[in-house]
Amino acid sequence: MASSLSKELHFLLIPLMSQSHIIPLTDFAKLLAFHGVNVSIITTPLNAQKYKSIVTHAMKSNLKIQLIPLHFPSQEVGLPQGCENMDTLNSLELFKDFFLASEMMQEPLEKLIQELEPKPSCIISTSPLTWTQQVATKFKIPRYIFQTVSCFTLYCFHILNQTKLQDTLVLDSDSFLIPNVPHKIEFTKAQLPFDSSKQSSQGHMKSILDKIRKTQDLARGTLINTCGELENWYVDSYKKAVKKVFCVGPVSLCNKEMDEMVDRGNKASIDEHSNCLNWLDSMKPKSVIYACFGTLSNISFLQMKEIGLGLESSNVPFIWIIRGLNLTLEVEKWLRDENFEEKVKGRGMIIRGWAPQILILSHSAVGGFLTHCGWNSTLEGISCGVPMITFPMFAEQFYNEKFIVNVLKIGVRVGVEVSTISWNEEKNGVLVNKDQIKKAIDELMDKDLEGEDRRERAKELAHISKKAIEEEGSSYLNIKLLIEDVMHALNDKDGEANNVATINKSKHSNT
Ligand code: UDP
Repeated sequence: MASSLSKELHFLLIPLMSQSHIIPLTDFAKLLAFHGVNVSIITTPLNAQKYKSIVTHAMKSNLKIQLIPLHFPSQEVGLPQGCENMDTLNSLELFKDFFLASEMMQEPLEKLIQELEPKPSCIISTSPLTWTQQVATKFKIPRYIFQTVSCFTLYCFHILNQTKLQDTLVLDSDSFLIPNVPHKIEFTKAQLPFDSSKQSSQGHMKSILDKIRKTQDLARGTLINTCGELENWYVDSYKKAVKKVFCVGPVSLCNKEMDEMVDRGNKASIDEHSNCLNWLDSMKPKSVIYACFGTLSNISFLQMKEIGLGLESSNVPFIWIIRGLNLTLEVEKWLRDENFEEKVKGRGMIIRGWAPQILILSHSAVGGFLTHCGWNSTLEGISCGVPMITFPMFAEQFYNEKFIVNVLKIGVRVGVEVSTISWNEEKNGVLVNKDQIKKAIDELMDKDLEGEDRRERAKELAHISKKAIEEEGSSYLNIKLLIEDVMHALNDKDGEANNVATINKSKHSNT
């Protein structure tokens, strides 16, 4: 495990300030620290406060992880005070300002690096933080991109970037097949994210994506939160397309203890947890649907109603998570007027705010996951062996839907056909109605042969995902290779021929 050389290494982990970037990087911090390296997670003061329990858990396990807060200039760019995480944004305009503020963290980060001990050995940052590449170049340390999307998505992006097939589509219903891949993957124009012809604010998204593509080649390597066994063909193909790919996931599986799972991300009320867990304990195995739409989806009131009515009419036990921004006065009034919670009492429960997602998903009573198909949620569903109902909305979520349904064959589509521009678009829109939701739940929970096959496959995928993270599993070994790669990069920089021998020696002591 830990070699004497890795103990001197210091990895800086810098996630974009969004739950779906901070959560996997804090998980990855633990996996890295387990190999003996020092890890510092750089984030803003409010996020550091929110995630401080990771340091408490790390200390208990003698892992060297620290959280370093850097000032986030929200007010300097006109963002509301306290706006330090993308889950607080409710408009695309604010999104632009948020990115601007994050770029302004470059100078404070450079100052910090000059003072840090031990000296940072590398930067691992999520892909939108392109400016961290300049910092790495300035300090002559390698930067690795941590991808929060699947290899399947990255490879499809790569093909579309080369073929420009999407540019040939005119009508929303026009479609194309992704060429030269072993599965039938069809996209309509309406399902594609970031269509610059739709709205000017999408132009901004596109320019961020262009920047990401341009800095990709400057990074020393790419880490992906997946494992080779899950998407073998796509990993192999992507490895031929870009240099140095390390599959290091599913990182959420590093959380083994109950308190780690409870504290992951935002901390919800402990009473709500025990209510929910006691209730799950009383349910039959694989009987409950867990419905959660991530941390960014801004769902219209009308759509919320359809989700509620669909869950109610399904007659299947459920837990429905309603995040803060979706819990509007209108939604609360509707729930009250409908007497919703009374009507579903004993069969369904609502969690308002944050849920301990991986704790719930790993409970034996959960038999289905109604998900918005964010990559973290998708991977967490896979890792827990839970078949999914796919309800994609924006960004690369339609890619994840196709991965779940067409590639892994462990999901049922709810039937969303149109990608929204971002989480705040079509505030009043209804993407799917209650009957579609009920139909998808019935199909997923059905005990017919197809349903049983889906459940079997999901169980098998959970098994192989767990093996990948365990000692000597593929992702575990890839983390070792990454650490060696950092040592090589540092030695190349110093030109110390002698150290190559030392690294080779350490390689042997590691295995
Ligand atoms: N999550 C959670 N509790 C919640 C909502 C979300 O723990 O109530 C976690 C979830 O486990 C996942 C992350 O937040 O790790 C959401 O990331 P994802 O990529 O699925 O979606 P996004 O939020 O980016 O849309």
